[in-house]
Amino acid sequence: MRYLILALVCAACLLAVRLTDGADQKGQKTDISMIKIPPTIGQNRHYVSNKEPLAPSPLIKLPIGAIEPKGWLLSQLQLMRNGFTGRLKELSKFLSSGSGWLTLKDKGWEEMPYWLKGFGDLGYILKDQTLIAEAKRWLDEALGSQQPDGYFGPADNKKNQDLWPNMLMLFCLQSFHEATGDKRVIPFMTKYFRYELNLPPDRLLPGSWQKLRGGDNLESVYWLYNRTGEKFLLDLGRRLFERTSDWTSPILTADRDKKLEASQFYHGVNITMGFRQPGDYYQQSKDQKYLEAVERNYRQIMDEYGQQPGGMFGADENIRAGYNDPRQGAETCSMVEFMYSNESLLKITGDPRYAERCEEIAFNSLPAALTPDLRGLHYLTAPNLISCDSSGDHDFQNGGTLVSYDPWNYRCCQHNVAFGWPYFSEHLWLATQDNGLAAVLYAPSEVTAKVADGSEVRISEDTWYPFGDFIDLTVWTTTPAEFPLYLRIPEWCSNAKIVLNGEDLKVQAQPSAFVALRRVWSNGDQIRLELPPKIEVKTWTKLGNTVSVRRGPLWYSLKIGERWNRYGGTDEWPAFEILPTTSWNYGLALNPANPASSISFIAQKPPAYQPFTPEAAPIILRAKARRIPLWKEEKRMAGELPASPVQTNEPLEDITLIPMGCARLRIASFPTVLFK
Ligand SMILES: [Zn+2]
Repeated sequence: MRYLILALVCAACLLAVRLTDGADQKGQKTDISMIKIPPTIGQNRHYVSNKEPLAPSPLIKLPIGAIEPKGWLLSQLQLMRNGFTGRLKELSKFLSSGSGWLTLKDKGWEEMPYWLKGFGDLGYILKDQTLIAEAKRWLDEALGSQQPDGYFGPADNKKNQDLWPNMLMLFCLQSFHEATGDKRVIPFMTKYFRYELNLPPDRLLPGSWQKLRGGDNLESVYWLYNRTGEKFLLDLGRRLFERTSDWTSPILTADRDKKLEASQFYHGVNITMGFRQPGDYYQQSKDQKYLEAVERNYRQIMDEYGQQPGGMFGADENIRAGYNDPRQGAETCSMVEFMYSNESLLKITGDPRYAERCEEIAFNSLPAALTPDLRGLHYLTAPNLISCDSSGDHDFQNGGTLVSYDPWNYRCCQHNVAFGWPYFSEHLWLATQDNGLAAVLYAPSEVTAKVADGSEVRISEDTWYPFGDFIDLTVWTTTPAEFPLYLRIPEWCSNAKIVLNGEDLKVQAQPSAFVALRRVWSNGDQIRLELPPKIEVKTWTKLGNTVSVRRGPLWYSLKIGERWNRYGGTDEWPAFEILPTTSWNYGLALNPANPASSISFIAQKPPAYQPFTPEAAPIILRAKARRIPLWKEEKRMAGELPASPVQTNEPLEDITLIPMGCARLRIASFPTVLFK
């Protein structure tokens, strides 16, 4: 037993190094260590986490409402509320009084619960009583629809043996329970899962989306198990895993191409959800091979189709052999689902790499999927996107308009986008098994949580991040409390600095790990986490040595002039094209000896209420570039990237680079041209 405990300790503290143990100006000692993954021994006393025999969770979700977004993140949520997420019933027929989710007779599939999943959480986070009441109207109907056998929801879905829309509603109910403690949710879910357990195998996830997305169902089963401990839920968990499509075997193989399921496996949204499914089941199996399968899935997709900045991959409807240029798009649903999968894996594994991946999508890709006022969106966003027109001429797998901004269109994304920012906000801070707190995703916010033996602390996080280079944390507590505070060090930052109450802790902080600070925290303690970014040039060797520019958490795009053209919609809810007014076909002139030295830092300013616009871009870089006449528009897209370096006789020019999240027209992957 002693060896087992030792092994567990060692596994959790792989990089643990006691660095200093001095006393600060307040006479208070601080234990400082670097740790790859927060510990999994012990049991958090205040928040629900995995119950035995599930693998212990290194990071634990706080109940909704514990984290209050501030600054630019709060403004995204406010814009959502005032934009089409908050008012979607003015636009969507799926939210009308004829919805099957209200009548129980008519059609009611994924759309309403897609929207409710984000809409409800938005209300709980903003503490907006109007949104909360509207969410409750739909939740009450779902709760009231349960049949004697445990099934709930529109009759059509039962007739079609389709459990997929109910998986979404389960997430809505979990949030509702976390936010309000409603007593109906637990017995309701218990009865529904008994229904699922009693289904004959051929009726449990028989095919289509539900079969590929069974990981979501599995997560809800574990959520309930952690609250009730009923053993039948583990039997159901095993059966759901077995009945879900096989995401444990390699997802890109020659023979899978021949299978009927191939097109469904290759659909971008299925990949962004399904790739994590073995990781969900790892919690029950505790077999490392399932975590390895998650990483292999991720690498297979990204190494082939994700050779681009912004954390996404080209799948404009599906991934397609030969379509890996960064002009191919990623669906908005894929972005929010990929963010969530990373948030989920972060809690399951404690591995900071998932925080990196989530932030990369959130800061660089998601903002450009919507208009700055969050009153319209498009289906596809790509790192190289030179015309957001409504022509439908583009070389995407689907036809029709996919890149113009329209609040009325794009059925799934229109509803599903709602949960992107709310779920992101709920994962900024997580609890740890040793009754501490971890800052895992960075954004301006305030967290209120129980730590140590039950003391309540509030920590305010003041920062411009991802547009600023430091994060100020202030601890507020009525009584001093001893607990560990874990701070994630991003993988791009090799020289992080931590200043505690004015004193440099001289921490040798390792990238992609946590610094753990354990001390008796008292009211007013201040921590400054400095994360100095450096400009980097990433070369995409698989894409003809094209390049992208990164500085810290943000990737950069050519600033392209925008002309907004209203082409449809109503005066209240207009639809827009965005057309380019300036040239886009530039190659970067980089010093081969030191490419990053050719990019200049020009300006940095505090983020505006909506920082994700070309005009408000909080950081500006400048580069030398030459136009490439042979790199031409094709089908209203940038032509495929030419192999670098490209010959051109055009003169050197200064070009402006802005964060790619601020740019809806963008070139974020460039060819290179002659330096001099
Ligand atoms: Zn979609």
